[in-house]
Formats: sequence, C-alpha cells, structure tokens
Amino acid sequence: MRPMALHISSTAFESIEESALASMPEECCGLLIGRIDGSKRLVERTQTAINIAAGDRHKRYEIDPQAVFDAIRKSNESGEQLLGFFHSHPDSSLQPSSHDVKTAWPDKSYLIVGVNSSGIVGHSSWRLGGGGKGMQEEPITLTDRQLLH
Ligand SMILES: [Zn+2]
Repeated sequence: MRPMALHISSTAFESIEESALASMPEECCGLLIGRIDGSKRLVERTQTAINIAAGDRHKRYEIDPQAVFDAIRKSNESGEQLLGFFHSHPDSSLQPSSHDVKTAWPDKSYLIVGVNSSGIVGHSSWRLGGGGKGMQEEPITLTDRQLLH
C-alpha cells in the first residue's frame, strides 16, 4: 500500500523549523493538528511542547502526556484532530530511532526535522506500518509552496 502524503501548510512547517533551530542542541517536540479531508491528512497548525525527557535531550524527547491530552480535548471541541507529532534530530539522521519506533502510536504521523549547527538539513515523516514492520516513510507535501530543502 502506498503511504498517503502528509499535507502541511508552510506556516505550520516554518514554525516546526523555528522550534528545531531554537531548541538546539536539544530535540524540540510538539503536536501536528489539523483535519482529515477525504484521503488527505492536512496539518493546519502546530503546537510546540516542552521536551520533558529525563536524560540526554540531544537524543531523546518526551512530550508531557497532559499536553497531549489537553490538545486532543481542545481539538475535538474545535472539530480538529491530532494528526501526529514532530521532533528534531540534532546532528543525527532523518530515520526514526528505535525509541521513536517503540513509542509510536498507530495512525499518527511522526515528522522529523534534521538540524545541525549550520541550520536545517532535511525533513522526513513516518507512520507505523502494518504487521509490526516498524515505520514507513510518507511524503511531505506543502500545501502552498515547494519544499526548500
Ligand atoms: Zn527521534
């Protein structure tokens, strides 16, 4: 099965890049919020979260479960949906880590921003595949301009 593209507004995308740069050398993290329009998953806005991981936040992130719960409740009230999560990989690859795979929720998109001291180095987005085969990459489509990286 071909993975669906994750559609994201350039405003939301830029806010993720800003978080990734501002959080260096630690991983940034946050929520992807929007709606499902037919077969399209459309991220309209993001919500930055504090990385509460104990230990090395250069290599690990954890979003406060209360922030996730609040976002789900608020988005339900406004007719939106929690579509997934974003985080950055400072000085690392764009592949999900084994920890990323282990902690992933089904049906959520996991957007990874690669960043180093020179700036943004790339992006990828992943979802859990069927049959416990780890995560599959899904294309990222900006709704209003071409990807610059
Ligand atoms: Zn990761």
